[in-house]
Amino acid sequence: MPVPMLDLTRQYKPLREEMRQALDRVCDSQRFILGPEVDAFEAEAAAALGVGHAVGVTSGTDALLAALMALGVGPGDQVVVPTFTFFATAGVVTRLGATPVFVDIDPVDFCMNPRQVRERVGPRTRAVMPVHLFGQAADLGGVVEAAGRVPVIEDCAQSWGAEYGGRQAGAIGAMGAFSFFPSKNLGCFGDGGLITTSDAELAGRLRELRMHGQSGPYQHPVVGGNFRIDALQAAVLRVKLPHVPAWIEGRRANAERYRQLFADAGLDGTVILPEALAGRGHTFNQYVVRVPRRDELRAFLSGRGIGCAVYYPLPLHLQPCFASLGHGEGDFPVAEKASREVLALPVFPELEASEQEEVVSAIAEFYAN
Ligand SMILES: *Cc1c(COP(=O)(O)O)cnc(C)c1O
Repeated sequence: MPVPMLDLTRQYKPLREEMRQALDRVCDSQRFILGPEVDAFEAEAAAALGVGHAVGVTSGTDALLAALMALGVGPGDQVVVPTFTFFATAGVVTRLGATPVFVDIDPVDFCMNPRQVRERVGPRTRAVMPVHLFGQAADLGGVVEAAGRVPVIEDCAQSWGAEYGGRQAGAIGAMGAFSFFPSKNLGCFGDGGLITTSDAELAGRLRELRMHGQSGPYQHPVVGGNFRIDALQAAVLRVKLPHVPAWIEGRRANAERYRQLFADAGLDGTVILPEALAGRGHTFNQYVVRVPRRDELRAFLSGRGIGCAVYYPLPLHLQPCFASLGHGEGDFPVAEKASREVLALPVFPELEASEQEEVVSAIAEFYAN
């Protein structure tokens, strides 16, 4: 029996009628740029996340980019980022002419190591960007302390609904950047993103930046971009938003079932399971295990029609586009080891117990030989 890595049709089916009505509402109004649908989504998102302000943008990448622009990051500046993350976290830094300063990760939570942040923050540091990787909050207490007076921008692309110390991810740093790419905890019908902040002045600046830096009609005190979220995407997100807590519970239940199944199969010594740390509200946007002979196992599962994926096979400090930073193999050993061992298994909320049994029994068969 094949098992998909992600099947969004299962999420869409029960929402189909409501979704089509929401899309019709926008089509009938012909108001596609900002307007009431975007306003309503931003208010609902801000309430759900416990933040003062939420600004809808074109993607998670543009959320990170605009957040850095709002801080005035530019040439000569440095931004501290983890080396083990999706490319966008560091790519946006370079696009502004600033320099990404990489730090290694913690081997348990896969997120940036606060001790290394402390060592790398200097006079040119303009921001620190922790990533709540795979849906679990980074050690924000440690990161915020290490950052000192430098603003923290949380990369929440994978972590809608995660928590740190009782507060939601995206509500703790100066700003939070969310992605609504379809595979995230809250996904739209294409690209979309959101920036959160509780600072009214920053929120105002972000609203200007997403309109080419416009402060009033044809007045541009700064250069921005076109970073506006589509009204159609806002309408889609408003339908999905109330369901997110239940979907996250579904992900957590699936993670718990994997724990049971791996233990029952006697694999808990071979396969290192992800840990949901206390107070970090793991949402399991990805269920990432560490395994020996990873690439062989991956090929074996693919051959069986079982979806799996590697996030991420190459840490960013070893990417060709960052060669000028002068890093080499061995600079960030924890990230490099993770990139050789990690494998993401299907964990989406609608996954069936029988499908999880299939995944675990195929892995058991692989290691039996
Ligand atoms: C998905 C993702 C992004 C980028 O989001 P897009 O909406 O695809 O631009 C940024 N950072 C991380 C950690 C991500 O997982």
